[in-house]
Amino acid sequence: MSAFVIDAFEFSRLKERREGDVSIADMARLSAESVNKSASLRWSLQGGADSLNHPQLILSVSGTIELMCQRCMTPLKFAVESESILILAKTDERADGIDALLADDTVDVIVASKTMNIMELIEDEALLAIPLAPKHDVCPDNAALNDLMGTKKASPFAVLKDLKQ
Ligand SMILES: [Zn+2]
Repeated sequence: MSAFVIDAFEFSRLKERREGDVSIADMARLSAESVNKSASLRWSLQGGADSLNHPQLILSVSGTIELMCQRCMTPLKFAVESESILILAKTDERADGIDALLADDTVDVIVASKTMNIMELIEDEALLAIPLAPKHDVCPDNAALNDLMGTKKASPFAVLKDLKQ
């Protein structure tokens, strides 16, 4: 069994912890969004229970993903630093019931299983963390253009200075 497959309920009950790195290349949906597929993300998963004794997982994902800037179409480094509390339910009906009971936007209620692939959870977490339309604060082309304009503005004075000398 892969290191990424867990019995989610046992994992929570035993308060297990697991952590590691996962390559972006191994996550198809995230790869489609990423320029640098050879990078990896750091993740950790901590089992436990919430105050009402529902089994829960705390999932953390961090790392740097290179996205494509939607303005200048060059790579943009985006730092992911994400943590989610996932409350586990055995069925959709139970999940809806717990969701209504908790009425808490800061947690997610998910349907878990005894053979749960946590790589999918990690990928979901990363996909939710990245912007839909990533853009540089200042695109590199514009920055280069600004530098060029700055140089052009300064040059007459430089020329004048040279003449005076
Ligand atoms: Zn850009």
